[in-house]
Amino acid sequence: MNAGLSDSRPSENELIDLHRKHLGRGRSQLAALFGSLVEDSAAGARVTTTDGQEFLNCGGYGVFFAGAGHPRVVEAVRRQAERQALSTRLFLDPAVGLAAQALTSVAPAGLDRVHFSGSGAEATETAVKLARAHGRRRLISMENGYHGKTVGALSLTAKSFYQDPFRPLLPGVTHVPFGEVAALAEALRTGGEGEACVVVEPVQSEAGVIMPPPGYLAEVAALCREHRALLVVDEVMTGLGRLGAWWGSELAGVRPDMLLVGKALSGGVMPVSAVLATPEVFEPFDTDPFLHTSTYSGAPIAMAAVRATVEVIRDEGLVDRAAVTGARLLGALRAIAAERAPRLVREVRGAGLLIGVELDNASMAGELLLEMVDRHVVVNHSLNAHPVVRLTPPATLTPAEEAELLTAFDDSLTAMAKNFS
Ligand code: PMP
Repeated sequence: MNAGLSDSRPSENELIDLHRKHLGRGRSQLAALFGSLVEDSAAGARVTTTDGQEFLNCGGYGVFFAGAGHPRVVEAVRRQAERQALSTRLFLDPAVGLAAQALTSVAPAGLDRVHFSGSGAEATETAVKLARAHGRRRLISMENGYHGKTVGALSLTAKSFYQDPFRPLLPGVTHVPFGEVAALAEALRTGGEGEACVVVEPVQSEAGVIMPPPGYLAEVAALCREHRALLVVDEVMTGLGRLGAWWGSELAGVRPDMLLVGKALSGGVMPVSAVLATPEVFEPFDTDPFLHTSTYSGAPIAMAAVRATVEVIRDEGLVDRAAVTGARLLGALRAIAAERAPRLVREVRGAGLLIGVELDNASMAGELLLEMVDRHVVVNHSLNAHPVVRLTPPATLTPAEEAELLTAFDDSLTAMAKNFS
């Protein structure tokens, strides 16, 4: 029997050994990069390490839109855990009904049906199955797009590095360049009418925060209507306020057939995702509720988090705060980049609180990430675009925290400009 399962904390070296032994090289490489930094706790925009250092968390791959462990979400989850964490799945369960009501109340009109799952990739899988159940056997996604890494979702995540070791993937998948309407039109024309499903992000996040040309999503939606293709908008990153609007679809004036939600839905507390669909699109799951099931789908403990999270985002005006803070940050970050490191930073772009800083190359992006961590600010890289560093701060950011982020960015770029000159 293994020792050490009590509450006692492993030493730094023991922890590195545990990672190496049980979790593989990826996790232990983090130890090499970040040395003795071991996460201990998190609240709001702060994450604290076991040695007592505090970091401003502008990373988390988009999860912490409402901050980490929002007290209202934690309280809702705690109460649900004490009363009933998981259900029998035989009887009706209030938590899932109330979560669905909360989420659909803020969703684009018409998306009244919900299927809950645990990760963004699972939401993609659900959408793919609904599309196929409607005879849409051709899937079209965008080059460099990201929709998860389970086998079905990976078929849509158009990056050969992630796909190649796992071929064959789903058949009938075409990738077209993001932002190019003509390429999509061509792909839709060459397939049979009513046989395709298009999957697209409003802003490509893992591709390095790529903004499409104005009107792109609306044109995609019009093409889908023309060719009777289903439209899935993947808002796992962009949804629930991240772009400074509830949905990227809303900004584009588009009502998708299906919309994928994840990350921010967690309230920084609970891994959970969802597919929203129109009743017509959801119909195959109505006809046979056993077509697509999962033991933990709609688990009360996760549903308590969903309901509380939607209420927090709404009651605290986080969507508007993301728009205002995001616009201010984007302007300030651009000014700093132009002043301190015009030869290192190619572009600072984004919408709301999804901001990408494109460096000249991948190693500079790595450097910026480490410089920011040195100055106690956590940021992320981009899975499909290594020269791009992403900032996804919480919408709860205070003016003092905002200033902290900007100072760290300024000092990091100043230091880098010296090193690279
Ligand atoms: N879709 C988008 C747009 C994403 O950004 C991500 C995660 N980066 C996913 C899907 C996959 O989500 P998960 O990692 O939870 O499977």
